[in-house]
Amino acid sequence: MRTTATPPVDALEQVLGELPLPWVVTAEDLKLALRALLVHAPEQWPTGPLCRADRTAYPCLLHRWARRVLRSRGLLDEVIDGLVERGGQLLGVPDGRS
Ligand SMILES: [Zn+2]
Repeated sequence: MRTTATPPVDALEQVLGELPLPWVVTAEDLKLALRALLVHAPEQWPTGPLCRADRTAYPCLLHRWARRVLRSRGLLDEVIDGLVERGGQLLGVPDGRS
């Protein structure tokens, strides 16, 4: 499914805000972010899409964090969606070193 990040929807998240990005995004951070996108994928419910892992409104806090990590390395949403569709294969993704 094609996705775009939206503002926080959970009351607790409105208080706590978004998860902070790593100071330096490493290759390990990129792998973790991809894993988070695969685990925190949308699942269709009668009330709308929910996160498959934590059953909060999609995109959930971790999904948004993961997408921001990947965007911080210059990846466009279309590329990120393509990576997720390929099961997180990191072919052609920058290694994260600055
Ligand atoms: Zn989630």
